[in-house]
Amino acid sequence: MIPEDVIAEIVRRTDIVELIGGYLPLRAAGRTHKTLCPFHTEKTPSFVVNPERQIFHCFGCGEGGDAIAFLIKHERLGFMEAVRFLAERAGVSLPTTRGGPGPGEADSRLPLLEIHRVALQHFRENLAGADGAHARAYLAERGLSREAAERFELGYALPRWDALLRVLKQKGYPDKVLEAAGLSVPRQSGSGSYDRFRNRLMIPIWDVSGKVIAFGGRALEPKEVKYLNSPETALYRKGSHLYGLNVAARAIRERKVAIVVEGYFDAITLHAHGFDHAVAALGTALTTDQARLLGRYAQTVVLLFDPDAPGIGAARRSLEHLINVDLHWRIVLLSGGLDPDAFLRKHGAADFQAALAGAQDLVEFFLDRRVSGLDLNDPVERARAVDGLIEVVGLIDSPVRREGYVQRVAQRAAISDRTLLEAVAQRRSRIGRHEAKTAPAPAPVVPPTAEEQLVFIGLHHAAYRERIAAAITPEEIRDPILQRIFVEFVQHGRPASRDGGARPMSLQPAEVQRRLSALWAAAGEGEWTPAGEAGDAALAQMVEDCLARMAARRGRAQRTMLRQALQAADREGDRERVLKLLSEHPSIKGGDKTT
Ligand SMILES: [Zn+2]
Repeated sequence: MIPEDVIAEIVRRTDIVELIGGYLPLRAAGRTHKTLCPFHTEKTPSFVVNPERQIFHCFGCGEGGDAIAFLIKHERLGFMEAVRFLAERAGVSLPTTRGGPGPGEADSRLPLLEIHRVALQHFRENLAGADGAHARAYLAERGLSREAAERFELGYALPRWDALLRVLKQKGYPDKVLEAAGLSVPRQSGSGSYDRFRNRLMIPIWDVSGKVIAFGGRALEPKEVKYLNSPETALYRKGSHLYGLNVAARAIRERKVAIVVEGYFDAITLHAHGFDHAVAALGTALTTDQARLLGRYAQTVVLLFDPDAPGIGAARRSLEHLINVDLHWRIVLLSGGLDPDAFLRKHGAADFQAALAGAQDLVEFFLDRRVSGLDLNDPVERARAVDGLIEVVGLIDSPVRREGYVQRVAQRAAISDRTLLEAVAQRRSRIGRHEAKTAPAPAPVVPPTAEEQLVFIGLHHAAYRERIAAAITPEEIRDPILQRIFVEFVQHGRPASRDGGARPMSLQPAEVQRRLSALWAAAGEGEWTPAGEAGDAALAQMVEDCLARMAARRGRAQRTMLRQALQAADREGDRERVLKLLSEHPSIKGGDKTT
């Protein structure tokens, strides 16, 4: 187990703004940074990163915590995995652990990630070595330079049944784990397993942070299946990653545009020609997850699918997922029926750039296809065209956007807007699509309870900590999470700031982290705390008011208890006890029969 102070040191050496900024586009807003929350869908940013407190918090969904918590949530790392990742990043060496597993050590992703690292190195060595001549010749034939191969960490799987297996077995990984990693396949008969990838050019698939989570293999022999991919594993889920996004993320953010192609080699060739904002879909149709992932970096997405029928079909299937993700979707079909890789190699970057410039709005593209070839003067064909248009427009959830397209369609088909809008509405109710919910009204500001205010002030204002800690006991705080925060941070006066030597927040239960980050973040947003010159007096007043409210609550609770004791004694006919209670607490005399 890694000692707490080492974890604290790692967290201290990590700048959360820099860390999160590597995954999400942060925009400075006053003392904090903001962005769209990656944990829920929203249109206006309520995700805050607070450098002062080194925390993140989403005012929308309540997610929050420190750097470790971010990696656990966002990258789906285990606790120890996140600590190791940050340690490496911060240059803190960790004691190698033998013996009992630490918190989260049982996480099954960690060995799989290590296996992929080992496999990557093995494949790359093969490509560079004597056995790799054949694969290198293939790359040269595709016009890919050594730099491109290195940038994309391409490798080669040897034409043997156990080349990788041996390497991994030597490192002590059992068959079961190698199979779970998707790199070996159990033998049909007998025991043991064999390498999934043989005699293939190997393309590592990374997650956004650059960790290898799967492989794609391109056959070098024509009789083999052209592309073979890792199966779904604990690391790799189909439809949730985009190939090359870790390499392209910066360029996409700068250009605000992403190009999505179908194949790995399309993406690699695009990068080699300077189009460093290209990613591959890793499958034919883009999913909503992938669209949202792109939305974190890009404003405009250009789809570059193969112009053959399956390519268009994929784009059409994608349309339903994409159309309602708030990005500008555009599409390019390359002339001559060439895929992007072939087009670039034949025509070069300038022609490709020109083709990109001619990208068409995705909805318009499909609207055009519905109309093309139909004679709009012929009533029957016109009706058919309108039906097709309604089908496409009917997919759009936003009434505003829908109306925009309806106007264009109406012009084209010479039909009234209203008739069309009604037809679209009918179609939507027929296919069971509900109207887009308008953004929920901001939650009303609930006046925080006295105990919440006191804990908040105790956290933020050391000057009042003692007064508050002395005036109330933990048991008086009804909210158990707040009670914990009170004990640890107010009563015991742990400062919980980045340099205060506090216990890392991640060692707290998730519920405490969320609550704590909310309390920290609220101050960053200027809520609750009275500002200005009068602030101090107001704060002191607030403390006394809250304490008075707590005292009143305490009094009420005591009276209730006494009343119950009195009634019990009365029922049991214990006259002596009744008199004793009444003499000790005259305030409950007469009781309160109404409650
Ligand atoms: Zn959120």
